[in-house]
Amino acid sequence: MSLVSRQTLNQWLNQSLQTDNFKDYAPNGLQLQGKPYIQKIVLGVTASKAFLEKAVEAQADAVIVHHGWFWKNENPCIVQMKYERIAYAIKHELNVFGYHLPLDAHPEWGNNAQLAKVLGMGVNKKDGVPETCGQGNLIWLGTPPEGKEKLDVFLQHIETSLDRKPLFIGNKERSVSRIAWCTGGAQSYFEEAIQAGAEVFITGEASEQVFHIANEYDVAFIGAGHHATERYGVQALGVAIKQQFPTIEIEFIDCPNPI
Ligand SMILES: [Zn+2]
Repeated sequence: MSLVSRQTLNQWLNQSLQTDNFKDYAPNGLQLQGKPYIQKIVLGVTASKAFLEKAVEAQADAVIVHHGWFWKNENPCIVQMKYERIAYAIKHELNVFGYHLPLDAHPEWGNNAQLAKVLGMGVNKKDGVPETCGQGNLIWLGTPPEGKEKLDVFLQHIETSLDRKPLFIGNKERSVSRIAWCTGGAQSYFEEAIQAGAEVFITGEASEQVFHIANEYDVAFIGAGHHATERYGVQALGVAIKQQFPTIEIEFIDCPNPI
């Protein structure tokens, strides 16, 4: 069996996800080098210690996550929690790849595109390009799933699809036709979504001010879970990797997180 080198994989990933086009809060690509050749990749949302342990148990040579390491504004020193994670990964020669914004924004494999697919939301398109707005064009615009225009029905559908009860602010009796979403911790984009005409904004998390924004603009807010909304991009990426490198074994491991 021909093995894929770390370099080949890294190059293909960076090119496919167009990492050079993003100004991000963390480095995108190979964050820690491990074994030079890769036979098995474990995919996950966050490179936590628990996830790394599961990946090692599953005999991964590499992990690919949405939330990697080395975030802007965090203590850069390799101590405590960060040391434990890195030391563990080095001990097991794990390659650690992190893709943050490139894996939110990718038109096909990105978290926003995949959330639309999982929930059956319609993506507004112009000349084949999704309608987006806001900082880095990270907010997507579209329509609710067919037959789920009424917010109480839509909410129930989200709960069933993501297996998590969403936080809701607004009037459940209302029906919507223009919706906006951005996976993860995008609550600070709420007002931009409103300016773009959204009648409901779906993201992962909420902050205190979200309640007032929803009330004072009279636009609904859904917090569907940061982790819950960001499980799908990395899995779609896994399918694409398998197509490109059929000899690589791929496994997604979910470490559930209530936030
Ligand atoms: Zn996130």
